[in-house]
Amino acid sequence: MGADGLRSLSIFGATGSIGEQTVDLLLRAGGAETHKIVALTGGRNIARLAEMARTLRAEIAVCADASGLAELRDRLAGSGVEAAAGTTAIVEAAERPADWVMSAIVGAAGLEPGFRALRHGATLALANKESLVTAGPLLMAEAARHGARILPVDSEHSAIFQALVGEDIAAVERIILTASGGALRDWPLERLAKATVTEALAHPNWAMGQRITIDSASMFNKALEVIETREFFGVAPDQIEVIIHPESLIHSMVAYRDGAIMAHMGAPDMRHSIGYALNWPDRSHLPVARLDLAQVATLTFRAPDLARYPALRLARQVMARRGLAGAAFNAAKEVALDHFLAGGIGFMDMSGVVEATLEALDADLGHENDAMTLEDVQLVDHLARQRAGKIARRQAGEQ
Ligand code: NAD
Ligand code: MG
Repeated sequence: MGADGLRSLSIFGATGSIGEQTVDLLLRAGGAETHKIVALTGGRNIARLAEMARTLRAEIAVCADASGLAELRDRLAGSGVEAAAGTTAIVEAAERPADWVMSAIVGAAGLEPGFRALRHGATLALANKESLVTAGPLLMAEAARHGARILPVDSEHSAIFQALVGEDIAAVERIILTASGGALRDWPLERLAKATVTEALAHPNWAMGQRITIDSASMFNKALEVIETREFFGVAPDQIEVIIHPESLIHSMVAYRDGAIMAHMGAPDMRHSIGYALNWPDRSHLPVARLDLAQVATLTFRAPDLARYPALRLARQVMARRGLAGAAFNAAKEVALDHFLAGGIGFMDMSGVVEATLEALDADLGHENDAMTLEDVQLVDHLARQRAGKIARRQAGEQ
């Protein structure tokens, strides 16, 4: 709480899909009248960042790209909002105390701001799943050390978190993550290699940022979420299952040792899990569609075909290796995705690039060690990007 009694908040990645939905909920909850907004950060959309910062009367607005600073200053002139730019400025903004911090930058760039925010004991609403994949043990230990709380925002993890309320984690037999299967789930396997970016972006249920939408089609997103589940809830890898549920109405399930399965249902709208984290431990009214189950009529499920989704197999390898393997996996995945988006490699080549990177780095680094520092994670991230880039360029040259 600030001196004025208002709850203080920061949003990292405010201009993205999760960030915009967080801002939407905040404005509905009274915006600057009822909250003290500390920091808002964005990437290249300076106009939107400045507009939000003015509306929410933020203390500081930071854009990722240093070249955007002049424009940001211009747009904020006379508003009383400070302007800053660059990666270091984003990390510094995370060091400003806030009661509640949304971590919604996409990719490995989201790790350090969230990590820093834990130092002042903030509640960290974690949309950036990459933080747990690359540095789960580090993040959880940092939260424990500073008495900070991490609340999951990924819909599956929010669902699991909610299905665990009042329960003993020791009574959990399995955690069942649901997956929509993404845009290409009904394509024949032989056609997948030729899938284009536009085709992979046509997600059937969820409207999300571009990168996570492609990751849904390849199931790299689910692979990250399996690892995220392992790190956040501390269950063993073989307790985590994935099931394809095309309707995306059950957001995930917890199966207990007495045979009961607790499923979390709702419309596919991220404002549910963002709002749950924002209001926790209370439940407040949220502007999400209500399910009419008679209208829904049927829910369907099927086991994922591992030949279509090598990412799920790779997630198992990463969990077996632990330590810095998650950082290498995520970095290689981000690079492979960049190359797919740029048209250099095919849809099914992405997993090949990631697998070859993991193999190469394993030999070079022996990164099985569970002890890690932020610097270790950043170093492995850097090495994996270099290696994956080389592998992807070689692959592109062969096509
Ligand atoms: P997005 O691409 O829509 O937005 C990302 C935000 O991060 C933007 O504000 C962008 O400007 C900023 N950004 C991008 N690169 C940056 C960098 N290098 N440094 C600083 N800022 C940078 O992404 P999104 O879909 O909102 O996803 C955000 C995070 O939430 C991701 O980790 C994603 O996996 C996770 N997530 C998203 C959804 C969803 O529905 N969109 C669901 C579950 C989890
Ligand atoms: Mg998810």
